[in-house]
Amino acid sequence: KNIKKYFPIKGGVLKRTIGHLKAVDDVSLTIQKGETLGIVGESGSGKSTLGRVILRLLDPTEGNIHFNGADISKLTRRKFRPYRRDMQIVFQDPFASLNSKMSVAELVEEPLLIQADLSKSERKKKAIEIIEKVGLRAEDRLKYPHEFSGGQRQRISIARALIIEPKFVICDEPVSALDVSIQAQVLNLMKDLQDDLGLTYLFIAHDLGVVKHISDRVAVMYLGRIVEIAPKKAIYENALHPYTKALLTSIPVIDTGKSNEQKVEKIKLSGDLPSPANPPSGCTFRTRCPLAHDRCSIVRPELTEMEKGHFVACHLYTEEQ
Ligand code: SF4
Ligand code: MG
Repeated sequence: KNIKKYFPIKGGVLKRTIGHLKAVDDVSLTIQKGETLGIVGESGSGKSTLGRVILRLLDPTEGNIHFNGADISKLTRRKFRPYRRDMQIVFQDPFASLNSKMSVAELVEEPLLIQADLSKSERKKKAIEIIEKVGLRAEDRLKYPHEFSGGQRQRISIARALIIEPKFVICDEPVSALDVSIQAQVLNLMKDLQDDLGLTYLFIAHDLGVVKHISDRVAVMYLGRIVEIAPKKAIYENALHPYTKALLTSIPVIDTGKSNEQKVEKIKLSGDLPSPANPPSGCTFRTRCPLAHDRCSIVRPELTEMEKGHFVACHLYTEEQ
């Protein structure tokens, strides 16, 4: 609720704070048990920072995080520990996130070491179970990360995240580093695991193609703010925000043999993302928006509900005509 994460920018010889990088700038959202909320935006939109704040890997500058009704935003490390087990993260790059000197068994069992009550043989049993669940073989336990392909390494990361039986998993671009041909396999695996284990996902991606099949709802972020959030069908068939339309326009069209006519109007995105240290006034998307008008540089549009559960922050919909 109202999450802000500002990073100080230091400058000058005295290294004083001369400004703030507003990575996340007043984001509120709810994720229901068992659902997948997709969060989409370009790199620099603040989506990974938001994920880290929700998991308390970073402290928010402002705002609160509630988990199962409890406010976890200000708990001490010790009081937070029981929640830690329920919340896990799968990172984008399975090369960087897996220690190459550890065997698969060590990597997958490591998160269990915080549970002092488990014996060695119990840990091994659990590891084999989860290794097989993610589609690897029990014998793979004795191998090292470099002996696997990118897709298999991501399966190891997923096993590592799931072995302590979390309820909520943040997936931070888990397939972005993988070959397109492997992406669907890993996405299907994550969907199956969700159904099987009753997981709740926050699924971060940089394009709308990746989250299309896995999400129940989708939020679109731009420069630290949510500009549109809606049930999946509404995002893909009735997108309202010009930025969402631009992201939809840029989804690679997969040739299914059927006509692939896009239902929303096409908008081509031009220019780069402005710096979150110095965002444009009013609507922060105005420097790239083909529909920008006078009001857009003066007044910041607020998220407004247009249809049930479909919110957009754009003057085109909320202005008095
Ligand atoms: Fe474009 Fe204005 Fe809407 Fe922003 S508020 S998305 S600049 S039309
Ligand atoms: Mg990121």
